[in-house]
Amino acid sequence: MRVHVADHPLINHKLTYLRDERTDSPTFRRLAEELVTLLAYEATREVRVEPFDIRTPVAPTSGIKLANPKPVIVPILRAGLGMLEGMTRLLPSAEVGFLGTVRDEKTLGVTAYANRLPETLHGRQVFVIDPMLATGHTLVMAFEFLRDLGADDITAVCLLGAPEGIEAVRESADQLGIPVTLVLGAIDERLDENGYIVPGLGDAGDRLYGVV
Ligand code: URA
Repeated sequence: MRVHVADHPLINHKLTYLRDERTDSPTFRRLAEELVTLLAYEATREVRVEPFDIRTPVAPTSGIKLANPKPVIVPILRAGLGMLEGMTRLLPSAEVGFLGTVRDEKTLGVTAYANRLPETLHGRQVFVIDPMLATGHTLVMAFEFLRDLGADDITAVCLLGAPEGIEAVRESADQLGIPVTLVLGAIDERLDENGYIVPGLGDAGDRLYGVV
């Protein structure tokens, strides 16, 4: 698995405000969107393209455009929705599928409660977006789901990751048999006993949308 951790002052600046408990939901949503657009730049480095002939006002030339089939973006509900706008801004022609998961706060196990994905992902590049890579259970489940539907290349974009979760995802990616890339805004210290990232930013879904 290829892991890319952003090392950029602008990303660290925005992450600091995102972490700050005084940051309100509207500001948190705006920052999350801006951050994912910056991370998407790296995440799409290997996006598939094809040659494309054009004419400038001066001369014919050739360029590139996104190849078909177009990539699929999969936000993990609910917190991944906070990253969707930032991702589609960079990949406006991508399709969007949804995967809903919920975490049992006692066992930290994950179950899927919603799946709106294309019937097949055969030959498709998939970008999974989920702000917090904590235990890794959600991404491991999502990767298996997507691979079983035929995805042949998966990139996960997360704002923060814990070392424990990255290890779990790495082990799973090694078994998947398809290329997996992980793009992170930062790697934090550890998980606490409740499975929260330390220092982290708290519950990303609650901070985006309030406690419901
Ligand atoms: N999910 C969150 O929203 N925050 C964490 O710290 C861990 C999982």
